[in-house]
Amino acid sequence: MFKILILPIGSVPNKILRGICEALKEVYGAICEIYPESLPVPSEAYSPERKQYHASFFVSLAESYARMLHFTRVVAITDVNLFVPGLNFVFGQASLHGLGAVVSLFMLRPEVYGEPPDMDLLLERVVKTVIHEIGHTLGLNHCDNPRCVMRFSNHVGETDFKTKNFCSTCRKKVDRALKKYLNE
Ligand SMILES: [Zn+2]
Ligand SMILES: [Zn+2]
Repeated sequence: MFKILILPIGSVPNKILRGICEALKEVYGAICEIYPESLPVPSEAYSPERKQYHASFFVSLAESYARMLHFTRVVAITDVNLFVPGLNFVFGQASLHGLGAVVSLFMLRPEVYGEPPDMDLLLERVVKTVIHEIGHTLGLNHCDNPRCVMRFSNHVGETDFKTKNFCSTCRKKVDRALKKYLNE
């Protein structure tokens, strides 16, 4: 079984959480559950100099929930602005072959780019980012195909251009990685 837990941290609309689970069932054949309550945003992760939150802290938190609650993967979803040292911001983060990932709504919101709020567009962007980050946890690296979900996004324009699907090469890698769980 490939069991994914979606862990809301801070204020995340229910529509987003449910939409993520739908997509994960479709793309990964996963069993997806949403944690019944939203965790408070961890103040330890805050960087006062950057006025942003350390993404790695959220990934570690997600990993500890995966071990504690026996999920194959845990994806934290948050509304705060995330960074990793060396980058201005990140849409999400995961460790290669890790148990946890994080995705932030913050820089995916159309409002940040002066556009009107659009929940459907936000959901589409979040879904692509979540699928991408779980791909990393299955051992996939970035892909050069601009339509492949494993393409790195520097800007939402790139997120909008790629699809939520894997190119055929990445899909084969995913299927190989999933075999291990689906036979359990
Ligand atoms: Zn990536
Ligand atoms: Zn690819």
